[in-house]
Amino acid sequence: MSEVPQALRTLAAGSIELLREAVAEYGNVCYANSLGSESMVLTDLIWTSVPEIEIFSVDTGRLYPETYDLIERVQQRYCRTLRMYYPDGARIEDWVGEHGINGFRDGLELRHECCGIRKVGPFRRAIAGRGAWVTGIRRGQSASRALAAPVEWDREYGLHKVSPLLEWSEKDIWDYIRKKRLPYNSLHDIGFPSIGCAPCTRAVQPGEDPRSGRWWWERADSRECGLHPRRKVSALAVSTAAAPKD
Ligand code: SF4
Repeated sequence: MSEVPQALRTLAAGSIELLREAVAEYGNVCYANSLGSESMVLTDLIWTSVPEIEIFSVDTGRLYPETYDLIERVQQRYCRTLRMYYPDGARIEDWVGEHGINGFRDGLELRHECCGIRKVGPFRRAIAGRGAWVTGIRRGQSASRALAAPVEWDREYGLHKVSPLLEWSEKDIWDYIRKKRLPYNSLHDIGFPSIGCAPCTRAVQPGEDPRSGRWWWERADSRECGLHPRRKVSALAVSTAAAPKD
């Protein structure tokens, strides 16, 4: 990737090294591809340099059409199929029958139930029996994520969690995508910093907290999907961790 600046190549090399170490240490490693901008970088690193890591994604059934289009473009670029996991249809039928098609807007508990059925359930099936899972979280995304370690024991799911992009800034991510002309979700071009289910994601204004586009009707400290449970953050850690990285 000669067109990529040296600093980015160094970052990418460090991420690849961590991924290779994870395979050597834990054997069966998978990557939970969320189809956001970070995911495009990780997909490129994995499918070009550490292809023994299986990449999968969860189709909640409520994704944007642009996201399905992206899946197709990613598969065409790498001539590989992204393994998709789906929620349990009977559980969705029961839940929607009881709470309505958008019942997740009626309270935090219901929203967590919906995320539990549509995201966490398929995710648990996808990681069952693995030694580690890879995530695309970055320190700059939130005070909670700023405290993450590159490799952690994930108590919630009972395997190791590997985060190769922790030190990447948002600018690094987009520089890499543009330099390598990677596919990405076209919604990013109209103000979506992070993209999940259509009814729970919206565009944000320039300068707004990127996470404010997710579950915006809830309190700011509850806006996680359940795959990355929030860790407790002290006031000192918040002031340190929230400092801009770039
Ligand atoms: Fe349900 Fe919204 Fe969670 Fe998607 S993001 S699983 S629609 S609550």
